[in-house]
Amino acid sequence: MSVAENLAVIHREISRSALKAGRDPGMIKIIAVTKNVSAEKAREAVAAGILDLGENRVQELQNKFAHVRGVHWHLIGHLQSNKVKYIMDKADLVHSLDRWSLARELDHRAGEWHKVMPVLLQVNVAGEQTKFGLPVDEVRDFAMAVAELKGIKIQGLMTIAPLVDHAEEVRPVFRELKNISDGLKDIPGVCMDQLSMGMTNDYAVAIEEGATMVRVGTAIFGYRE
Ligand SMILES: *Cc1c(COP(=O)(O)O)cnc(C)c1O
Repeated sequence: MSVAENLAVIHREISRSALKAGRDPGMIKIIAVTKNVSAEKAREAVAAGILDLGENRVQELQNKFAHVRGVHWHLIGHLQSNKVKYIMDKADLVHSLDRWSLARELDHRAGEWHKVMPVLLQVNVAGEQTKFGLPVDEVRDFAMAVAELKGIKIQGLMTIAPLVDHAEEVRPVFRELKNISDGLKDIPGVCMDQLSMGMTNDYAVAIEEGATMVRVGTAIFGYRE
């Protein structure tokens, strides 16, 4: 199937999941994840109406940025502090703020650029050893500290659910991220409008649990090499 056909299927799925949960499908944004996908393919998604592209590596974002214009870029993967300087003028949202050293560097570079970088806090909800993300019990203190930094604006939370056979198994992970988000809304200066959760295998469940952004690669572009 073509990228446009795949996207049509995904839009239908999104509508179905949103309506099932009593939500407005228009409130859910697809981030088309272009890692290991050519700029040409990425442009097919844009031609089919996609407005937001996601990359998990800075190098790939930089490369594609020059070739795919008119979209919002999302840095969705682990971000090394020494790479922050390369994304300040390219990323519209960093989904993976997960430690203080990175917050400091983002804030510092934002100051240089005279801008405010919107971020999501990545939370390791399932507590997987192999995954990045803040431990659940540290999110609140971290959010309060980041809220003091002038160069960063927290917009919400992000998580990567464990890989499972049936998406239903990770429903509690998404539900918990939503709960954590609700619990942070009282912090001054912290906005909790966005929940970035759900990928190819589990975005339908994530939407039922409140996702506002789903990060989808394989279902749009096919299997990666
Ligand atoms: C690759 C990736 C995705 C998309 O994964 P698919 O299963 O291909 O949809 C989403 N989020 C992150 C952080 C990724 O690295």
